[in-house]
Amino acid sequence: MIGRMSNQDAVALTRSLLRFETVNPPGRERDCARHVGAMLEESGFSIQYFEHAESRTSVVARAGGNDAKPPLCLTGHIDVVALGSRKWTKDPFSGETEGDRLYGRGTSDMKSGIAAILLAAKNLSKKLSGTPGIVLVLTAAEEGGCLGSQHLAQTQLLGRAGALIVGEPTSNYPNVGHKGSLKLYARFRGVSAHGSMPELGENAIYKAAKAVAKLENFDFQAKRHPIMGAPTMNVGTFEGGQGVNMVPDSASVGVDIRTVTGMDHAALLSRLKDILGKEAELDVFSDMNAVWTEPQQEWVQRVFEIAGRHLGARPTPKTAAYNTDAGNLLKVYKGVPTVVLGPGEPQQAHQTDEYCSMERIRQSVAIYEDLIRDWCRV
Ligand SMILES: [Zn+2]
Repeated sequence: MIGRMSNQDAVALTRSLLRFETVNPPGRERDCARHVGAMLEESGFSIQYFEHAESRTSVVARAGGNDAKPPLCLTGHIDVVALGSRKWTKDPFSGETEGDRLYGRGTSDMKSGIAAILLAAKNLSKKLSGTPGIVLVLTAAEEGGCLGSQHLAQTQLLGRAGALIVGEPTSNYPNVGHKGSLKLYARFRGVSAHGSMPELGENAIYKAAKAVAKLENFDFQAKRHPIMGAPTMNVGTFEGGQGVNMVPDSASVGVDIRTVTGMDHAALLSRLKDILGKEAELDVFSDMNAVWTEPQQEWVQRVFEIAGRHLGARPTPKTAAYNTDAGNLLKVYKGVPTVVLGPGEPQQAHQTDEYCSMERIRQSVAIYEDLIRDWCRV
């Protein structure tokens, strides 16, 4: 009966989180973060709030803890993406349902995951004293650059963790990692002149164009990863010039590189510098290594077994297509085994009329509870 009640709460809790408008930009996660923090505080968690910018609030909550073994970390983000330009047929913030589907922005990505983490944590909070315990890292500003987790990693206040569960949408299927990302702008400068006298200027667009053409067939000199696949590079933006009758004195190219595990970002960056030439000024605005844990790792095998019991079949190793906060958190929780596992539907992330299966939300609470019990032996 208790299990049943908590399961119903999981959907209700997701709906209550949907009503906090945390669309990023601008984000404004503070109210939602304080609400979640107050809830955990009531269950006996110790709470810390962190703001990397005005009203951009992340929450770190702890329960239990001993010296013998570090806690299990569960993480998720409380911001959601914009509604997009297409019209929704469902209300994005009220939590409309239809059959097994719960609709709204963030149902899959990932307020359902946050709700399930909260509920599992709350249900077990009384039992965690004297055990390794758990730490919940609930972040602001994951969408568009993982700025909340980047800030948290820099504070040096995250403490330690022995394993990491990221509640991003996987339909509760444990994923053993995801690609890394290196995002940068390459800027080129020139000298402005009147468009009728180009010989008096120095054209920054020509410089950028010559440099960027060399990227099209960039050879990563990296082996294809058997599960993650190959690294990729995309030139996503090209900007320059202020008027057709002027010689442009600046141009900028936006590059998005997705790396696989084992690649050295610093070495990659230095190769890029060589290729783009010394006139290119590189501005790296996102740098997160790939996340990967060997599927044979002991705890990952436990996760496969526990999740497999709920899913009806033992999982096989897979990785997620998207990035997560794990890239930043692992800068602090160095080398800890990590799985991405959450109730959302991965293909529903960022969609119009986004939905999540209510059955999956309930299932994820049970899986998280089992994983916490297994870690803390309660
Ligand atoms: Zn997400």
